[in-house]
Amino acid sequence: MQVIWFKRDLRIHDHTALTLASIEGTCMPLYILEPTLWHQADMSQRQYQFLKDCLTELDLELQKIGQHLIIKVGDAVSILQEINESFPVSGLWSHQETWNSWTYARDKRVESWADMHSIPWFQHAGNGVVRHLKTRNGWAINWNEQMKKPVTEAPHYLKGLDFCSDTLPAAEALGLKEDGYHLGQRGGRSEALLLLDSFLYERGERYTKEMSSPSTAFDSCSRLSAHLAFGTLSVREVFHALEARNQEIKSLPPLAKGKWPSAIRSFSGRLRWHCHFIQKLEDEPRIEFENLHSAYDRLRRDEFNVDYFEAWKVGETGYPMIDACMRALVATGWLNFRMRAMLASFASFHLWLHWRQPALHLARLFVDYEPGIHYSQMQMQSGTTGINSIRIYNPIKQGIDHDPDGEFIRSWVPELKNMPKENIHRPWELSAQMNGYPMPIVDEKKARKFAADKIYSIRKNTEHKQETKQIVKKHASRKQTTKGKKVSDSIKKGGDKKQSSQGELPF
Ligand SMILES: Cc1cc2nc3c(=O)[nH]c(=O)nc-3n(C[C@H](O)[C@H](O)[C@H](O)COP(=O)(O)OP(=O)(O)OC[C@H]3O[C@@H](n4cnc5c(N)ncnc54)[C@H](O)[C@@H]3O)c2cc1C
Repeated sequence: MQVIWFKRDLRIHDHTALTLASIEGTCMPLYILEPTLWHQADMSQRQYQFLKDCLTELDLELQKIGQHLIIKVGDAVSILQEINESFPVSGLWSHQETWNSWTYARDKRVESWADMHSIPWFQHAGNGVVRHLKTRNGWAINWNEQMKKPVTEAPHYLKGLDFCSDTLPAAEALGLKEDGYHLGQRGGRSEALLLLDSFLYERGERYTKEMSSPSTAFDSCSRLSAHLAFGTLSVREVFHALEARNQEIKSLPPLAKGKWPSAIRSFSGRLRWHCHFIQKLEDEPRIEFENLHSAYDRLRRDEFNVDYFEAWKVGETGYPMIDACMRALVATGWLNFRMRAMLASFASFHLWLHWRQPALHLARLFVDYEPGIHYSQMQMQSGTTGINSIRIYNPIKQGIDHDPDGEFIRSWVPELKNMPKENIHRPWELSAQMNGYPMPIVDEKKARKFAADKIYSIRKNTEHKQETKQIVKKHASRKQTTKGKKVSDSIKKGGDKKQSSQGELPF
């Protein structure tokens, strides 16, 4: 019997492990709900809610091809052992998972168990992330080649067996607390397909321009991130849909193309970044916990201000754009890139908090939490990679640029509902109308200068440069050409040039 172990690949389409296993004979499609994983500090009720939607749909899809999803609750090794005792397992199949340190350690235990029982474990890489990568040279070209391969067809039939499922525990039983989330996205593949379609044919035309403002981004961004994180869609499926749409747009007369060519270019780059960042964690798992560049280990070591952290977490820093974004994130589980970067930068620079605790808090709030992207971005926005330019987002300027009339702020910070437009980004200048909204917890200018001085004093150091070279060699994206066409991780000239100068480039 073949066990197909579903992890973060909750679909039957473009699922190589499932399709190949189905050819081998009797199959058990299995999902293991691991309570210990859900007890980790980066896990949350909102992610669990999304997962449950995904599992419900996956089960329905599997039933259509002959075998329902078998859900077991417990430790992966114990569950596999129990299954093996009832139905000897001839092969274990899964995708190759690059997730957090806990899943890595669990996979090591499963590997030992499988070896001990001489059970082959076939792990399939689906997103262009390479295990045991020797060099970053050629990475983007290889990624493109992987994505261009045809998507794997779902099996038409699964020869199943009778094995009873456990009931999924309630979130509370896993220690997952209610946290203000009430406007979130629905999980499951059907929702993912609707989002993909509406993004590529309706919502996405102004993506390049509208991705930066939280007033427009909720609608103009694809909103596919949680689906990619849970694998209801594969990156390759999105890549193919994008290519098809690109061909359609190319065939339109120039005036009918509108802003689609720029949108397609911007989106295509970001799809590759998704995997580019996961590759970093695959290559260097310690970045979940430690600074990428060790020179920054001296910074923010013993200075964690708990009061600042608490104010940041609940959206009460006194900076309206920060607080509106945090409150929106708490309620919806999503935020656009620029505002995520601003929240992280404010915590790390203005509040001078080490990035690890803010990273865990944001991880819990993001339904789309993807460790590979998350920890790389947290470090990038905290200035600890040593290889990126330092960007300290000014929250007042971000407000003025991306919410000029203060509508987004007013909708999430009701205390400022009646604050005039002229004062909305500096409400302390009209303190009589603050309506209980707090005064700024730090002085923006002074805090920014303090942080910049500290960071730049380290960057100037010659030892810093030595280590930087090594990091660039190991992790940085390369500009390469394939058949005369540039394939790199950086944004090409054109529509989204503005973002590139404003910090939305990967490294
Ligand atoms: C501090 C911080 C933490 C982040 N943590 C996460 C995370 O845990 N999970 C996550 O998916 N994204 C994370 N991002 C990246 C980015 O903000 C989200 O991918 C994006 O906002 C998701 O919305 P979307 O699907 O509508 O994106 P779109 O703009 O529609 O982009 C499509 C897809 O491209 C990928 N993508 C887009 N931007 C980036 C980027 N800058 N880096 C890598 N991949 C990208 C994502 O998979 C996304 O779903 C983080 C960014 C920052 C600054």
